[in-house]
Amino acid sequence: MDYSKTIDGNKVIFVINGTIEVKIPKKIYDRYSGRYDDEEIISSCTKKELYNAVTGRRLYYISEESDIPLIGHTAFGIIDRGTNLLQVRPSSGCNLNCIFCSVDEGKSRTKVTDYMVDVDYLAKKFEEIADFKRRNCIAPIEAHIDGQGEPFLYPYIEKLIKKLHEMADIVSIQTNGILLTEDLIKRIDGYVDRINLSMHSMDEYTARRLAGIKSYDLSHVIEMAEVIAGSSIDLLIAPVWVPGYNDEDMKKIIEFGERIGAGKKWKAFGIQKYEKYKFGRKPKSAKMMNFKTFYRKLDEIGEGLKLYPEDFGIVKCASLPKKFRVGERVRLKIEMHGRVRNEMIAVARGRVVQIINTHKKVGDTVNARITRNKHNIYVAREE
Ligand code: SF4
Repeated sequence: MDYSKTIDGNKVIFVINGTIEVKIPKKIYDRYSGRYDDEEIISSCTKKELYNAVTGRRLYYISEESDIPLIGHTAFGIIDRGTNLLQVRPSSGCNLNCIFCSVDEGKSRTKVTDYMVDVDYLAKKFEEIADFKRRNCIAPIEAHIDGQGEPFLYPYIEKLIKKLHEMADIVSIQTNGILLTEDLIKRIDGYVDRINLSMHSMDEYTARRLAGIKSYDLSHVIEMAEVIAGSSIDLLIAPVWVPGYNDEDMKKIIEFGERIGAGKKWKAFGIQKYEKYKFGRKPKSAKMMNFKTFYRKLDEIGEGLKLYPEDFGIVKCASLPKKFRVGERVRLKIEMHGRVRNEMIAVARGRVVQIINTHKKVGDTVNARITRNKHNIYVAREE
């Protein structure tokens, strides 16, 4: 375990792999430190508090023993949208603060909790769901690592990639590229098939402005794009087009991607239209483009920029069975805090259920009605 240790007043604070902050009351630490080593104290102390060291938010570490299912939420676990692609979400939290972020990640006004899933638990559940998919369709199974945040902040990302490589036919991952290094890319080469790299501008000032942090290093991301393109991993460059901010950049990004050899196997570019979301950030002067204008402009910039599921071999494949009906009344026990204020997480029938607009606490039981069950993502409202 790679960790640092500091003492702050009456707490001993460990930061593990730069991402998990563990706070232990000093009194308890002092009581056990003569008999046990730090790692034993960290893993067995029941009075510890966990935080995400990057975002500063409360953190839940979800292991098999926690009995929290990995289906039902968009911030962690596995999402099955009824195709041969399974989204694998090991953790939430981001090192950037993009001004258009659809999930208000990084320094956030709305998010109060992060989640991280134990790598063995996540891999075991992936295998079960991939087996189910294989029994129901013949298409190759893709494990796509993404999430509400930056997947390379997950401390066990290399282990996860290698485990998924053993179980899936294709492994792909999204990243903003900041945490990539040449060495890391070499280590995952042969285990990852495609990296979807977010890069929104070729201009340093605009890139920083969009990333929302002054220290954003565009030249590093450009260098990493070149390293990926020179490896056996395919590179897909995925800018978000934010009208009024990076209109001039799309052509430049395409020229760059073509020059370095992005898209060896799949499409080289995945230009995304900026959308306003309820819990997302909305840059003040950004105008929304409608889809008609967006696709027309893509056609003007270049050929084949409009993406279709077939471009990535994505086909329909039976979904996992749903466990609740919309409108169904349920009695739920709250197990965790939710991602935003006044939201809690309950567990029932092997699924996670978000309860919105509630003031109940962990351990309470609520009467609720299911309001969403699409893609086995469950939302309920207290009755
Ligand atoms: S890198 Fe992605 S998750 Fe992170 S702040 Fe930017 S848009 Fe949001």
